[in-house]
Amino acid sequence: MLATLMYGAGDVRVEDVPDSVVEAPTDALVRVTASCICGSDLHPYHSMPADSGPARMGHEFIGIVEEVGDDVATLRSGDLVVAPFAYSDGTCRFCREGLHTSCEHGGFWDGLPKEGGQAELVRVPLADGTLVKLPVAADSALMPSLLTLSDVYGTGWHAAVSGGVAPGKSVTVIGDGAVGLLAVLSAKQLGAEQVVLMGRHPSRTDLGREFGATDVVAERGEEGIARVRELTGGHGTHVVLEAVGHRPAYDQAYGVVRPGGTISRVGVPQYDDAPVGFDSLFGGNITLTGGPAPTRAYVEQLLPAVLDGTVEPGKVFDRTIDLVDVPEGYRAMDERRALKVLVTP
Ligand SMILES: [Zn+2]
Repeated sequence: MLATLMYGAGDVRVEDVPDSVVEAPTDALVRVTASCICGSDLHPYHSMPADSGPARMGHEFIGIVEEVGDDVATLRSGDLVVAPFAYSDGTCRFCREGLHTSCEHGGFWDGLPKEGGQAELVRVPLADGTLVKLPVAADSALMPSLLTLSDVYGTGWHAAVSGGVAPGKSVTVIGDGAVGLLAVLSAKQLGAEQVVLMGRHPSRTDLGREFGATDVVAERGEEGIARVRELTGGHGTHVVLEAVGHRPAYDQAYGVVRPGGTISRVGVPQYDDAPVGFDSLFGGNITLTGGPAPTRAYVEQLLPAVLDGTVEPGKVFDRTIDLVDVPEGYRAMDERRALKVLVTP
């Protein structure tokens, strides 16, 4: 089968590898019908040392169940399923609390060296807990939107829910990538009154306005902070959703949060140290929250509005490529020629 391997920074290849197979009785083998490239795939694309790979890539996919292990009870071959970006049993104490990314028996696709979503086949561990059956055909026009349930929509939603977005709240979203834009959509769905989107790519911020942003701030750093304060009577916003992961975005976040407010981070932090003292978080009674989104927890909740067309999170995909062209997909996203690339095997 064909699969995507990253050999080091800037070096992505699609190669023939041994077919994935069912190994454990709780596994399902899924033939991928749609996958995609994530903004977080660009972090190793910039920094992965040449001698640490190759690593299998891809953690967002939809596919058809081809085979199941003996203990899989809820799925059968032929089912169309969406896979969250982490696998989980759905039964442990953390899964029951809705924190599937901390599943006692689960993990991330990165931890399975022979599997990845940017491939033709994937072995899915703990299939009953991980996969969600989709009530449509694999060629449905809803596929791009359904695929966002794997990661980017669920991650934007997690940011908003963790940040306490609710009717009447004001929100700043930092970052105009797919997660930032879907954090805007999520904030709007949760009833936010004002949604300020900080981003500087007009084609993306236009989609952000379509998703519900009331204001767009293209400036960054001190200038951007001043602009958000101007738009909020000098106070900043109740909630800040940080969907970038770099340190300047964190600095922007505490610059624009209102006293008593919450900063919710879902951009994977590319830093370990950042201010928490009087002038950043403490002085204003600021809450800091966020983390890897348990997107599995949100699929059933977000699915109906996707199925009936109330929301179209799939609009974040602006390019579709074949699996063999994945290296060009990485280049296009890295060079900001594409917002998010959908991959069909
Ligand atoms: Zn669990």
